[in-house]
Amino acid sequence: MRINIESVRKKEAANSIKFDYRVEESEKNNYKILLGAKEVGFINIIGEISQKNGLVAIDYEIEANFLAECARCGKETWQTVETGGEKYIADKSEEDEKAGGDFYFTETDGILELSDFIVEFLGVEIPYRYLCFDDCQGLCQKCGKDLNEGGCSCQKKEKNPAFKILDDFFEKKE
Ligand SMILES: [Zn+2]
Ligand SMILES: [Zn+2]
Repeated sequence: MRINIESVRKKEAANSIKFDYRVEESEKNNYKILLGAKEVGFINIIGEISQKNGLVAIDYEIEANFLAECARCGKETWQTVETGGEKYIADKSEEDEKAGGDFYFTETDGILELSDFIVEFLGVEIPYRYLCFDDCQGLCQKCGKDLNEGGCSCQKKEKNPAFKILDDFFEKKE
């Protein structure tokens, strides 16, 4: 969805532009790689574009719902990622003079393409892996049993407590 932001910049008819956009069915597949998803349920962006401090600003909330594999057990579960905030919008041609993280630069001067905006700001919120639930036990590395359904008969060696601490450390880093 393209929004012409010139009228807000010039403070013409509209002082603000509200939008509520749902990514179309035909475009959903374009987001699979970004999200690391098997399937995309929906992606929404809602918000408002208005003038702030003499600049064009956007207030936004993005919500994405999609099917992804658990990093531990491989089960596919529906995940939701949400993000939102406020940015200033400037034309690509102004990129050199206006630096910093507060700005979003449009590809085409005066036109905000919401799909590009979603890719940029949803992209930074994507976790690098998903879990089906926080404490997922994963699969036994020997027999492949889903350990969420109970222990398996594989022999488990008692771990030296020093190694346990290391394991916990790496588990947290993951
Ligand atoms: Zn899992
Ligand atoms: Zn096992």
